[in-house]
Amino acid sequence: MNYVATIGLETHVQLRTRSKIFCGCSTAFGAEPNTHVCPVCLGLPGAMPVLNREAVRLTVISGLLLGCRINGSSKFDRKNYYYPDMPKNYQISQYDRPLCLGGGVEIRTGAGPKTVHLTRIHLEEDVAKNLHFDRSSGIDFNRAGTPLMEIVTEPDLSTADEAFEYLQALKQILLYGGVSDCNLEEGNVRCDLNVSVRPEGSPTLGVKVEIKNMNTFKGVHRALTYEIRRQIDVKLRGGSLVQETRRWDDEAGVTESMRTKEQAHDYRYFPEPDLMPVVLDEATIEAWRATLPELPAARCERFVREYGLPEYDAGVLTADKALADFFESAAKASGNFKAVSNWIMTDVMRVLSERGVAIASLPLTAAALAGLVALVDRKTVNMPTAKEVFAELIDKGGDPDEIVKRRGLGQVSDAGAIEGFADQAIAAHPGPAAEFRAGKAPALQFLIGQVMKLSRGKANPQLAADVLRRRLGGGT
Ligand code: ADP
Ligand code: ZN
Ligand code: MG
Repeated sequence: MNYVATIGLETHVQLRTRSKIFCGCSTAFGAEPNTHVCPVCLGLPGAMPVLNREAVRLTVISGLLLGCRINGSSKFDRKNYYYPDMPKNYQISQYDRPLCLGGGVEIRTGAGPKTVHLTRIHLEEDVAKNLHFDRSSGIDFNRAGTPLMEIVTEPDLSTADEAFEYLQALKQILLYGGVSDCNLEEGNVRCDLNVSVRPEGSPTLGVKVEIKNMNTFKGVHRALTYEIRRQIDVKLRGGSLVQETRRWDDEAGVTESMRTKEQAHDYRYFPEPDLMPVVLDEATIEAWRATLPELPAARCERFVREYGLPEYDAGVLTADKALADFFESAAKASGNFKAVSNWIMTDVMRVLSERGVAIASLPLTAAALAGLVALVDRKTVNMPTAKEVFAELIDKGGDPDEIVKRRGLGQVSDAGAIEGFADQAIAAHPGPAAEFRAGKAPALQFLIGQVMKLSRGKANPQLAADVLRRRLGGGT
């Protein structure tokens, strides 16, 4: 029997707000433990939450970008359970009236594009962080109360590759929307995986296993690959699966059981009495809709249309918002779209991948790249010299015109100087000179090469050709 897998993801994304969701404490990462805290996010009795409007706006913006219906009337609920990192004994979340419903994410698969449908997006608070030392443990509440949106998919995914593609596509959209930094190293995106297997063609889904708290996309791919294999193996051996929660052991490369359904929490959700329902009128939602940024697919199309780029180049440039922004400002400043795109697609991207950095961390500015393109277009420098200027711009930044002047890299366009080089070349190579005079046009290329060499690559080649032709007689 052939088994197929079904996967649904629940992804927690940290929103880009300056303060926490229910208090004014900072969300900045990396501060001394327990310095960004107050009675609300410490969960002290009697402290009252106040909703951060920006967290609502960013969630709605995400929902609009993902094609969700926005719930004009949503509310918060208490999800009751006890953990040391959550001393209120409940997490404020949204249960039956989340902010966003439906929507979807387009992914590429081997069999063409596919829409991964979303069930919902709701807003909730993050918990604190347990830290374990040699002989003791501690809790850092800086993270407690950080606004998270939870994006839940329908069970629409069927392979580890598809789940990976989904997360990449989702991250790209959220970065474009500016709603989250999506910094995986800082735990901005964390994911629960729901996996089941069933015989191919069976209309009912199998028993699902949930793998908690994945924080890298590569880990998601490995965990799913392992878990799907494990479940199919159990089935093929005639065994049965139980609904359970498992954890991924990244070092061992296996999932292991944490708790089964019998030990599952009953969260006893009930409406949060300390917060008003969230009512959003049409006008507010429409005003937010009007601020939506252009998404990668639309931008790619526009780059082809507006800048005449090949589809492939437009796709590469728009895959990363910062890179697309960089291209666009350089292209606008330069006017030579194709040349700007060529520099970015080859030299800039090579440096980015060699150094493993983002465009923002290079000293090269869009204006400087436009300036470099202009130097080549005006024939002030030839391509090999332009690459030298580029190397300095990449390492130290600066102004290309200034670099050319300071380092004396400008092409020699002075007729007198080029005549000197031409005479030297003709004198040193009478053979080719005679050939050209006898009508062998290709001999000229050799002599131009000699002039370039004598000028150490700085002669304007067009001018060198003209001068040589004149010198060799005929003026042709
Ligand atoms: P729970 O009530 O256990 O949280 P939900 O129905 O809310 O389960 O679903 C949680 C996630 O699990 C969703 O992403 C959903 O698409 C996915 N899911 C539900 N049933 C299955 C299944 N049988 N196999 C794989 N994923 C599933
Ligand atoms: Zn606080
Ligand atoms: Mg659920």
